[in-house]
Amino acid sequence: MSATPAPTNFIRRQIDADLAAGRHDRVVTRFPPEPNGYLHIGHAKSMWLNFGIADDYGGCCTLRFDDTNPAREDAEFAAAIEEDIRWLGYRWSGIAFASDYFEQLYACAVELIEKGLAYVDSQNADDIRAGRGTLTRPGVDSPYRGRPAAENLALFEGMKDGRYRDGEMVLRAKIDMASPNLNLRDPVLYRIRRHRHQRTGDQWCIYPLYDFAHGQSDAIEGVTHSLCTLEFEDHRPLYEWFLDRLTLAKARRPRQIEFSRLNLNYTVMSKRSLSQLVEGGDVSGWDDPRMPTLRGLRRRGFTPASIRRFISLVGITRKANVIEMGQLENCVREHLEPVAPRVMAVIEPLKLVIENYPPGRTETIDAPNHPAEPGMGARPVTLSRELYIERDDFMENPPNKFLRLAPGREVRLRYAFLIRCTGVVRDAKGRAVELRCQYDPDTRHGGGRKTGIIHWVNAGDAVAAEVRLYDRLLSRADPPAGKDADFRQFLNPRSLVVRRHALLEASLAEPEPGVRYQFERLGYFFPDADSGPGKLVFNRIVTLRDSWAKIDRQRAAGG
Ligand code: ATP
Ligand code: MG
Repeated sequence: MSATPAPTNFIRRQIDADLAAGRHDRVVTRFPPEPNGYLHIGHAKSMWLNFGIADDYGGCCTLRFDDTNPAREDAEFAAAIEEDIRWLGYRWSGIAFASDYFEQLYACAVELIEKGLAYVDSQNADDIRAGRGTLTRPGVDSPYRGRPAAENLALFEGMKDGRYRDGEMVLRAKIDMASPNLNLRDPVLYRIRRHRHQRTGDQWCIYPLYDFAHGQSDAIEGVTHSLCTLEFEDHRPLYEWFLDRLTLAKARRPRQIEFSRLNLNYTVMSKRSLSQLVEGGDVSGWDDPRMPTLRGLRRRGFTPASIRRFISLVGITRKANVIEMGQLENCVREHLEPVAPRVMAVIEPLKLVIENYPPGRTETIDAPNHPAEPGMGARPVTLSRELYIERDDFMENPPNKFLRLAPGREVRLRYAFLIRCTGVVRDAKGRAVELRCQYDPDTRHGGGRKTGIIHWVNAGDAVAAEVRLYDRLLSRADPPAGKDADFRQFLNPRSLVVRRHALLEASLAEPEPGVRYQFERLGYFFPDADSGPGKLVFNRIVTLRDSWAKIDRQRAAGG
């Protein structure tokens, strides 16, 4: 899918070694989201790896919905996940659901019972937890650990047939209650849970747990390399334990390889944390343009290519780290700089009257759509006696360095002539509400004094719009993480600033669908989903320069 060859990494080297050793003759991966929420940019890393590797090795990558927990999952999420994957530019070779394998997984469990490797435990959840021990204390055997296989088989069948209450018993693997790895202390494989499943309905009242379902699903699908995030490293011995013992995996043996999760600063990434923001009303929804979800980034105007590029730059390692949000923003800047058409827009308008410009006259300027790409053509921009400029581009008492407009000072209007400010009209509070200027007709085509350049729009035909400016979602680079962490106290109050009275040049009355524009001097902008007939709303995707780089550098230096 990408034109540039993917950089090599330890996973690719492992795959190369497996192919060279004849361990596999092709490469099969899978992307396994649980349909319990929307995808975020962390998932983009997993997709980049799984789909990218399958693509580069001429193999295939399945989209597998890990739908083993019906209480949390929803068909709507699955549909949204498919849409987000396609938007990011990936295509799966097949689609599967862990629930497709419920029969086979059941048969695997029966096989373990028959081999004396699994038993039905009639203890309640609390006793099972207590019996598991801790990192410093070994577990104790369940009183039911010694049940004969025939009894276990009958009980397990009874569990499946709905003869017992939810929670009355579970199926556990019989491994090692003293193992230093807690995952190996007789993990639960199946539990009873009467909950309608989005795909299998009421057919099952027992559901396999992730650890049991995942590896076996990999084996069923012929996955060769099961790539997952580092928190599963401690589960790998269990993954292997099942594969070593089940006939299912004799011929097809997947290998689990872990890599570090993507973490970004100034935000949170897990679905659980993101849903807190949605439920708490801190954001407008999963697609709020401040969210690190693919939906949020998409709505804000990020391009799929810039996200893929970002992931490729982050690279794949086993080291846990936090990536700067600025890196993602740089990728979208780099993508848009050569292709985004330039336009002029004023976010906080200040009226300007050119007193020596003839009333009633309008001139049309051919403004290039891109300063360095003549092939992108030009558009007509009108100019007349009354214009609007950015309020920030005027200062009553500016320092010497200020290169924009001030009383008595001169500045160039982009694509036009020099103007000098000759008067200021103020309201009752003394705030400037209108500027009076004189223009110098001799500077129409360049020449004249060296000054700053400001953008503007023509009062007569400018289009009204709402503009939404975004900043970091959180004001802390490293918000507290974890189950009960209160990161919401660090919400950045300026993460969204709405400018309701912006004015755009007339060419933007009907923005081209899908086009990201550069508003000159202000950044890159994209129409928001709230736009409609007679209502234009633009999101700022990103400013032209990274205003956070300096802050992040100081922070890194301990300043
Ligand atoms: P979360 O709950 O944090 O949103 P998850 O791991 O529960 O994430 P899943 O839908 O289970 O989400 O994940 C699908 C795949 O994406 C898994 O293989 C998972 O390891 C991977 N993944 C999830 N988050 C990240 C991340 N931040 N960086 C890289 N891969 C990730
Ligand atoms: Mg998960």
